[in-house]
Amino acid sequence: MDPPELCFKHILGHEKAKHLLLEAAAKNKIGHAYLFRGPDGVGKKRTALALAAYLNCKSPLEKDACCTCGSCRKYNSGSHPDFIHIIPDGAAIKIGQVRELKHQLSFAPLEAAVRVIILEDVHTMKREAANSLLKTLEEPAENNLLILTADQAGEILPTIISRCQIIPFGPLDYKDMARVLMREKGIDNPKALTVAAAAEGSLGRAMLLLEKDLLALRQEVVEHLLLLQNDRPDTIAEVFRLSEKAAALKENIYEFLALLRLWYRDLVLVSAGQPDSSAACQDLMASLPAAIKRWNIAQLNERIGRLDLAEKQLLRNCSRSLVLESLFFDLI
Ligand SMILES: [Zn+2]
Repeated sequence: MDPPELCFKHILGHEKAKHLLLEAAAKNKIGHAYLFRGPDGVGKKRTALALAAYLNCKSPLEKDACCTCGSCRKYNSGSHPDFIHIIPDGAAIKIGQVRELKHQLSFAPLEAAVRVIILEDVHTMKREAANSLLKTLEEPAENNLLILTADQAGEILPTIISRCQIIPFGPLDYKDMARVLMREKGIDNPKALTVAAAAEGSLGRAMLLLEKDLLALRQEVVEHLLLLQNDRPDTIAEVFRLSEKAAALKENIYEFLALLRLWYRDLVLVSAGQPDSSAACQDLMASLPAAIKRWNIAQLNERIGRLDLAEKQLLRNCSRSLVLESLFFDLI
């Protein structure tokens, strides 16, 4: 498959963000540091790349890069010599990475009119690394543009925020997303809408859900937990089987837990009188009546709290299988 063309016209949604950036470019008023803030997987990095391609395009169109000139081709293939892309080394962007960046920026760009530097997930930066970046953010060497991306919920030092122009990115429209999923993944409309809602408007998360078949596993877990009873002999074996299966998801386990949480949230809402059609998990409608009959709102909220606890235990590196076994027993 060809690499995606990094043009604004290929970016789904975010009309306001695109407009702000294109207006600034047209008026020659692009800032020197932006913070793209919003959920994971909605297109922040792609927008940053589209801007990089546009600012360096040799024959730009009215509000987009041409996608065919030498510079555009290099951005599209990820081989532009002036493009710098920094992602967390393990859990965070570290001070060593910031020092290396400052060293690179002490040299002029090789061929770019504007050298674009993307720093992804800056909410992961510890104070020491963030402080080391402040001077660069405030006064980057000429012809450099820093684009920082961060999760909406992540905490960022105010000293970083105050030095950047903030461009907010919201979740994508579910119907727009569903259209892309149907086209690119060949799935039907109900499934595409379910995945879009389960991914909470993040195309990146939606692709992951489909790729790992997380919805199918969630359905299996939900259906089995509904059938199990704590005092039956076969319950232990079944919980162990489901736990092993879920533990095999490894780092995707958090997505799986988020999906389960969404299901319990649906149950609370419907129990409180909201219509079934308002539920996000349209793929689990068949299990809804039995689940609502089985647990009252207080018990459902207990289960949501139990999911939060499991997530905390996993973040502390407790054994995945043990955390899930204990969780599933409590969810029965
Ligand atoms: Zn071009």
